[in-house]
Amino acid sequence: RFITLEGGEGAGKSTQVRRLVAALAQRGVSAVATREPGGSPRAEDIRAVLLAGSAERLAPLAETLLFAAARADHLEKTIRPALARSQWVICDRFADSTRAYQGALGGVDAATVTTLERIAVGDTNPDLTLILDLPADIGLARAAHRRGGGEVDRFEQESLAFHQKLREAFLAIAAAEPERCVVIDASGDEGQVAAGVMTAIEPLLR
Ligand code: C5P
Repeated sequence: RFITLEGGEGAGKSTQVRRLVAALAQRGVSAVATREPGGSPRAEDIRAVLLAGSAERLAPLAETLLFAAARADHLEKTIRPALARSQWVICDRFADSTRAYQGALGGVDAATVTTLERIAVGDTNPDLTLILDLPADIGLARAAHRRGGGEVDRFEQESLAFHQKLREAFLAIAAAEPERCVVIDASGDEGQVAAGVMTAIEPLLR
């Protein structure tokens, strides 16, 4: 099984990925936690380029191409081998983040985003996508708290309006593909969100 977690900043995706892998282990299911951008050694190199806080921003199309390149390597080196070993793969962000950030927010047209996604992903599509949803201001406050004044990556510097649009973009994806996507209220505490995650994946365990 291939499960992706999506959502804006401070939604708690990485925490929930960790908790889900542990919960699956308790059920006797071996799962691999991974993330995007990154998830394989060279895709992590591309991540460093993408998230560098340089003043000169990559053109949105160039950014989209780099995300696609990183994704292709991640799929080939990490995701498909794990699935072939019958492990579950739990991925922190995947193609929906590109649709939202580079497409809906970055202005790269949907046809281009979809074409690149198809090329990079092939037929290794997620079985289930959990969209961790929370109001943008709460997410931003959480992300700032987590950082504790440390490095701010260039995406996190965007405005509240940006994050509100981002939230709407993820909700639009969920509405368009209800058979793949489950929206989970991520405004509660860690345990409440984890319970929502377990409810959502229960059908896959049967
Ligand atoms: O989830 P995480 O904070 O690790 O993501 C790293 C950054 O990459 C985020 O700030 C997110 O805004 C950005 N990102 C992006 N486009 C994607 C995936 C992630 O802009 N397709």
